[in-house]
Amino acid sequence: MLSQNKIPQATAKRLPLYYRFLNNLHIQGKSRVSSKELSDAIKVDSATIRRDFSYFGALGKKGYGYNVEYLLGFFRKTLDQDENTPVALIGVGNLGTAFLNYNFTKNNNTKIEIAFDADADKVGKEIGDIQVHHINDLEKHLEHIEVAILTVPLSEAQNITDRLIQAGVNGILNFTPARITVPENVRVHHIDLAVELQSLAYFMKHYPLENSDE
Ligand code: ATP
Repeated sequence: MLSQNKIPQATAKRLPLYYRFLNNLHIQGKSRVSSKELSDAIKVDSATIRRDFSYFGALGKKGYGYNVEYLLGFFRKTLDQDENTPVALIGVGNLGTAFLNYNFTKNNNTKIEIAFDADADKVGKEIGDIQVHHINDLEKHLEHIEVAILTVPLSEAQNITDRLIQAGVNGILNFTPARITVPENVRVHHIDLAVELQSLAYFMKHYPLENSDE
């Protein structure tokens, strides 16, 4: 990956601007863009854009422009993917243990760094290199963590969620069946595996996919 310090600061400052615009183009299904189009849209002269983009390794072709997908891939890496996202896991039961062992090794930017449980038999253990702490010590250890995975029993979900938010967490991957309530600035992604499986079976039964060969 191109290191940040090879990009001039003035260019780096324009990165989020480019990123936002190109992302919108991508959402609209556009696969290429000319420096003129970019220049008109974000009010940076096209010579500057061409110079900036050459630092990104993107060479525009006459009559074709720049490849939107390539640029977006580059920007994503440079803007946020360089930063590691430390994650806390709450509830080291069957599912939580599986996550600790798996630990998202294929995506090395998001990694569970710490785990918590209420069960004295689990506290102090290391699972997949991750230390399990007592849930009573949650607030002590969450200083730099903004993302949490919730794999506690349903009855504990809201109480733990409130504590996580109080401790500064603002993103929760909720694997409990509970519909947790959070303030507006907190993002929750809910994955209820039982519901997903039931829904798959239901759709297979009631809406079977056609086999195009028949
Ligand atoms: P197991 O069979 O190991 O208990 P499970 O996934 O079937 O796993 P659950 O009852 O869903 O068990 O609990 C998941 C985990 O959450 C357990 O390890 C349990 O000790 C833990 N847990 C329960 N209450 C809390 C809490 N308040 N804070 C943190 N962890 C908790």
